[in-house]
Amino acid sequence: MRAAVYRGNQRIVVEDIPIPEPGRGEVLVKIDYSAICGTDVHAFLYDIAPVGAVLGHEFSGHVVSVGQNVSRWSEGDRIVCGGGTPPPGKEAPLRRQSQYNYRLEGFSNSRNRGYAEYTILKDWEPSLVPDGVDQLHASLAEPCSVVVRAVRLSNQKLGDTVAVLGAGPIGLLCMQAAKAAGARKVIVSEPAAIRREVALDLGADAVVDPTVDDSVRSIIDLTDGLGPHVVYDCAAAKPTLHTALDMVRKKGNVMLVALAWEEVPLLPVDWAGKEVQLNTTFGGEPYDWQVALDLISTGQINLQPMILDTDFIGLENIQEAFEDLIKPSTQVQMVIKF
Ligand SMILES: [Zn+2]
Repeated sequence: MRAAVYRGNQRIVVEDIPIPEPGRGEVLVKIDYSAICGTDVHAFLYDIAPVGAVLGHEFSGHVVSVGQNVSRWSEGDRIVCGGGTPPPGKEAPLRRQSQYNYRLEGFSNSRNRGYAEYTILKDWEPSLVPDGVDQLHASLAEPCSVVVRAVRLSNQKLGDTVAVLGAGPIGLLCMQAAKAAGARKVIVSEPAAIRREVALDLGADAVVDPTVDDSVRSIIDLTDGLGPHVVYDCAAAKPTLHTALDMVRKKGNVMLVALAWEEVPLLPVDWAGKEVQLNTTFGGEPYDWQVALDLISTGQINLQPMILDTDFIGLENIQEAFEDLIKPSTQVQMVIKF
């Protein structure tokens, strides 16, 4: 099978490797779509991924064979790669270890993941794709679970005003989750015109171009001079945490969703006087996946406008795609189609 193997120094090579055999309690999955996640792009940019790793954790596929002792799944079942409940002791290290540093411990080459034609999952790992949700949209269930968790862990309340910084995939999903959770007004700040357009398409009440306008001033003005109740920082960029803390209203909530991989200078006295709450979130738990799949299947999260024709690539173009994505990008959600 073809697999995109990280070879170090920002180099991904598509290689032919054997199709893995499902062992006891495992299923072999033929991957249909694998979405490219900003986390993998950061691992590439900062050369953090271990040599030999096949990354990719946002994919849909179907079961092609099952190992011994698997009763939950049979051939042909349509699945997404996660959302299942781990048995005790099998939780991700992030949930299991009390001190966990994702940057240092988050990437492994011990198993092949979604940038390959086939992969192995433990039988408890995947979730069934609901009827009416197609495989393409199902591949985005993982980032949807991330924004569901972010909204659930924020203190967003019915009727709150919300700012979303960054309209990459996470921002576009987050603004929809915030709406579904009852936001009164959602304002999106994003430098790329195409992404601002998609944000409006998906129901943003206003958009701001931070390269033209002072986004702090504009968003405070758009919220009656008070600032938003909740700011979701979805930009994964160095300056936005500061922007978020500057614009949020007194006693408001800043939720850090997409992460910068650089040191961010902050002067606490600038914002501590507002009694701001700064919250973090990471990944999704099984319940967040269930909520995410519900929101997709009821259309409260609409994925169609996020995937433009130009966003599809073949596995052989993965190096190019990553090189594009480390530059300021205009793509919305890049997806590998198998
Ligand atoms: Zn991801």
